[in-house]
Amino acid sequence: MYQAFLIKYAEIGIKGKNRHIFEDTLVSQTANALKRADGEFTVRRENGRVYVLAHGEFDFDEAVEALTHVFGIAGICPVVLTEDEGFEKLAQTVIRYAADAFERLDVTFKVVTRRARKNYPMESMEVSAALGERLLEAYPQLKVDVHHPQVTLHVEIRNQINIYSRTIPGPGGMPVGTAGRAMLLLSGGIDSPVAGYMIAKRGVKIDAVYFHAPPYTSERAKQKVIDLAKAVSVYAGPVRLHIVNFTDIQLYIYDKCPHDQLTILMRRYMMKLAEHFAREGESLGLITGESIGQVASQTMQSLAVTDEACTMPVYRPLIGFDKQDIIDIALKIGTYETSILPFEDCCTIFVSRHPVTKPNLKSIQKSETHLQEKIDALFRQAVETVEVIRVEA
Ligand code: ATP
Ligand code: MG
Repeated sequence: MYQAFLIKYAEIGIKGKNRHIFEDTLVSQTANALKRADGEFTVRRENGRVYVLAHGEFDFDEAVEALTHVFGIAGICPVVLTEDEGFEKLAQTVIRYAADAFERLDVTFKVVTRRARKNYPMESMEVSAALGERLLEAYPQLKVDVHHPQVTLHVEIRNQINIYSRTIPGPGGMPVGTAGRAMLLLSGGIDSPVAGYMIAKRGVKIDAVYFHAPPYTSERAKQKVIDLAKAVSVYAGPVRLHIVNFTDIQLYIYDKCPHDQLTILMRRYMMKLAEHFAREGESLGLITGESIGQVASQTMQSLAVTDEACTMPVYRPLIGFDKQDIIDIALKIGTYETSILPFEDCCTIFVSRHPVTKPNLKSIQKSETHLQEKIDALFRQAVETVEVIRVEA
């Protein structure tokens, strides 16, 4: 029954020059997402709104599904378009519309009419009043409430007439591409995909890096991370996933350093490598899924020592979240089921039974001096053998 969508977005903070960047990006992200839906659409900016027009038949559910994944969209209004064939025809269309689109026919409502085309023979107020009357005749349980209606029925008279009343909630946030790019350290766990989702929601494009340790970690563990990157890309758009072979660095650390420091030393080299790929791909920061106190490597002391390994800002959007809060988001965005698949990751294979929980930077740096002989060559080798996959939903 619908032929178009009116896209609502929050206007806070998008004044001046930002406004057209916001809107242009929203238009291109919306058009991009709609490629996943069956049908042909054009998306355009139109006096302060974004408008999606379907050409011919399309899959309504798939279109709505695609639109609910576009950051920047606050609400999605399905629109019925009808030709102007006189008031009587319009009234009949509106009566049929209400039967389908109103959740119930005993609600309070009002009609709001806007004439973008001033040559229409009736005034806006007249149209609203007359349509209200016709609706009351058709459905006597309806009630008019002009102050706090449960349903506001919009009628916009343009070349065609637009009729809409429903708003499907959008995901909110800012369109991806309005805020630069960042590099997500993506493991196979629950947390990091959620962290990537949260930063993408603020308009940031996402690249990702995964540290793989074959043969200690399996191909299936790698596939799991590719699947997670794909799930994040449903929201974030295409992700350049860097798969780094971390085995030799890990074995070297294992060989040369105290085992209770393994995790923290490994985390520091992950940050350094991630920073390398971030600079190469013009990312402005790193993203991790850490939250204070969740595990030994996420105490305040450990986070400080991890941070010291790189100079780029590290964004940790989950820092104050409880595990359950993170799981709730993972369930909502569809990453949880994949994250809990039981494949080993490199952090779980080389962990010590009693890792330091309050590492001291001096003693960590001292351990790193044991790595002097080969670490630069191993670092270079990891950079040179990286596999980059473009992952797209
Ligand atoms: P997650 O649920 O995201 O795996 P975690 O609770 O297992 O996190 P850690 O293993 O301490 O926590 O990892 C902390 C963060 O470091 C992760 O959220 C992720 O950003 C990054 N990280 C850990 N292991 C890897 C890896 N193998 N590849 C890429 N990033 C990693
Ligand atoms: Mg993990």
